[in-house]
Amino acid sequence: MWKWLTALCLAGGIAFAAEPGLTTFPFEEGEITAIQDAPGGMNPAIFSGGSAETLKQNWKGKNIPSSYNVFLIRKNGKRILVDAGNGGRKGSLTGKLRALGIAPEQIDAVLLTHMHGDHIGELLTSDNKAAFPKARIYVSEHERGYWAKQKNAAMAQQVLRVYRKNLHVFPFQAAVLEGVAARDASGHTPGHTIFELGKIRFIGDVIHGAALQFPDPAVCAVYDMDRKSAVAVRRKVLKEALDNGWILAGGHLPYPGIGTVRKNADGSMQFVPLRAAGAQRSR
Ligand SMILES: [Zn+2]
Repeated sequence: MWKWLTALCLAGGIAFAAEPGLTTFPFEEGEITAIQDAPGGMNPAIFSGGSAETLKQNWKGKNIPSSYNVFLIRKNGKRILVDAGNGGRKGSLTGKLRALGIAPEQIDAVLLTHMHGDHIGELLTSDNKAAFPKARIYVSEHERGYWAKQKNAAMAQQVLRVYRKNLHVFPFQAAVLEGVAARDASGHTPGHTIFELGKIRFIGDVIHGAALQFPDPAVCAVYDMDRKSAVAVRRKVLKEALDNGWILAGGHLPYPGIGTVRKNADGSMQFVPLRAAGAQRSR
């Protein structure tokens, strides 16, 4: 009965409340569904640098609001993921895709901002096979090169191995797919990439704690591998987003993880989430 109802609603293009953690935004560039792979706040202790200690005063005993987000782009009949979540017991990506009526073999491409475990985990099944068997995996040559050589990077190396025939390794500044360009955002990891689609910027892990890093981009999370470059990228992205009215979609921005940048009267910046009005809660 439910299956039949789901099929009917999807066929008719009617919004269908599947489950929380799925929010679809209809953009000119294509439909983007923010998928919450897992909820999650960041412990203030992981942040340092800049005015972190002062900013953390507001969050004593509380986690900084955050999330684990994956984005699904539906454009010209293609289904493209940006990153692939945690996998294992923590992640829920595959189940949420099924709730949208999408089977793993219907994913055409996965764009990886980088290869940390919380962005590649669900590329592998529990028995370490390709979870998205027909998907082409896009990763920057710097990112692939770095993880391929590390000693303790079993998950990244397994991903590179099982998808080797479907791996598309690109240089920075390349057009990776129709309408999607890759930009150098290295710092968080050696090949960290921002993907551009029209006015939307998929910024991966440029931000871990919006409440600290929008007011002061010099604040770093412990996961930023090259802090100096990570800060430079963060400053540049936030300024350009503010100047150009970009929409940012981030791996750890508070769910649904899509929004714009506002400058406050005191000159500090703030993340402004896009409201789900104009978006469908799910479909
Ligand atoms: Zn991450």
